[in-house]
Amino acid sequence: MSNSRIRVRFAPSPTGPLHIGGVRTALYNYLFAKKNGGDFLLRIEDTDQTRFVEGAEEYIMNSLKWCGINWDEGPDKNTSFGPYRQSERKEMYKKYAVQLLDSGNAYYAFDTSEELDEMRKKLEADKTKQPQYDCHSRKEMKNSLTLSSSEVDELLNSNTPYVIRFKMPEDFIIEFDDLIRGHIKVNSSTLDDKVLFKSDGMPTYHLANVVDDYLMQITHVIRGEEWLPSAPLHVMLYKSFGWTDKMPDFAHLPLLLKPDGNGKLSKRDGDRLGFPVFPMKWTDPKSGEVSSGYKESGYFPDAFINMLALMGWNPGTEQEIFSMDELVNEFSIERVNKSGAKFDPEKAKWFNHKYLLNKNNEEIANLFANIVKEKGFDISINNLVKLVSLVKDRVNFVHELWDQLSFFFIPPQTYDEKTVKGKWKENTAEILTKTIDVLNSISNFSVQEIDKVLHEFMEQNQIPAGQLMIGLRISMVGEGKGPDLKEIMAYLGKEEVAKRIQRAVSING
Ligand code: GLU
Repeated sequence: MSNSRIRVRFAPSPTGPLHIGGVRTALYNYLFAKKNGGDFLLRIEDTDQTRFVEGAEEYIMNSLKWCGINWDEGPDKNTSFGPYRQSERKEMYKKYAVQLLDSGNAYYAFDTSEELDEMRKKLEADKTKQPQYDCHSRKEMKNSLTLSSSEVDELLNSNTPYVIRFKMPEDFIIEFDDLIRGHIKVNSSTLDDKVLFKSDGMPTYHLANVVDDYLMQITHVIRGEEWLPSAPLHVMLYKSFGWTDKMPDFAHLPLLLKPDGNGKLSKRDGDRLGFPVFPMKWTDPKSGEVSSGYKESGYFPDAFINMLALMGWNPGTEQEIFSMDELVNEFSIERVNKSGAKFDPEKAKWFNHKYLLNKNNEEIANLFANIVKEKGFDISINNLVKLVSLVKDRVNFVHELWDQLSFFFIPPQTYDEKTVKGKWKENTAEILTKTIDVLNSISNFSVQEIDKVLHEFMEQNQIPAGQLMIGLRISMVGEGKGPDLKEIMAYLGKEEVAKRIQRAVSING
């Protein structure tokens, strides 16, 4: 479709939490719309009542909001194209099903589930290539193609359950262009006669999806690869309705693949390898099972989005860090890859690390302040900013700062056995005790002064730097890790440093 305002939609079914593959589909739709000055719609496809899950719609909306993927139209942003929940559009669909019946593109089918089972078994026994309800098997079934019109009327009048099926033509070449996959050609005889409408008054996905895309003037259908097999039917529906000039362009996105091996990334992969596959924490309303989310795992939404954007799209340059605005500027469907994108949980952490480094220390300190408070410590933001600056480059997540910084709040209670055994020499205690006096002589307890005084002391007494420094580090931190020792000491202050040395000496001897 050309010369019209770009309109795209993300059309999730509220059957559970949104998988990160779904978030990526929403993101690409959003980027495409914004890049082209168009509209991004959120449509809830809730026609399948049996698969409805309590809380899923709210979860989807909250997740998109957290990601910064804001819709222009949706259930909470109605326009003349609404409503945006298919269950609220229920009354509209019947007329379109009837239109297809009238034009001979659809028919009533009255087969019971037992009869359908029997058909399948028979076709399987006959080794039929595709055991399905199609242009061949429909001739043997109970439908308005095989029954007389008076029989059909009788069944309808006696409220016999029915479905309306699409009458897929025989031996017709269905062709369309997919913006990612190129030209697609399918022989209609290989396709089944999909159910479009049920006697409970509900359309199926196929009918509702196509009718709504048409009514909402969708210009581009950008969705996951799993919908590619449905696209020929959708093309046929546009033809049958006489809407070909309004048919959207299709773009089927590559799958997100497991980090190891092949196949679609699943929740089980996440559980197995320890990473979330959902944007936010999800609690299953029936089983109570909790699945972790990127948000609660400490990811920044912009890092998460940046990572997802590059899972299947490439900017054509080496650039990896993109803000949402930059993504909008750079995005193009032409640069979406055909092949699946392997999900890399380590790379996801790397993105968060990069975003953490790019944020200023005040922002990180404010986030970290909540954790420090929860641990029961009261500390000024200025001091936290200082601490954050010392270890920021060592963590991927804000919550990991505690592990790096806890010794500032809690003096070591024990000392790492391995480090003490390897580094605490016979005369370490004696040297450290002398160091207390040396440090006491400093009036301005700054990094520079500490450095100067310690160097003089080591030189005068011919103490190997390694020995003194590791002894001090063990005393301050309790183990061999941590940021710059002089920074630690300057922050802790003269008195606390002396206390920590005394304690380490008394315990490690
Ligand atoms: N309701 C479908 C889904 O859950 C939408 C597929 C499409 O975008 O056409 O993914």
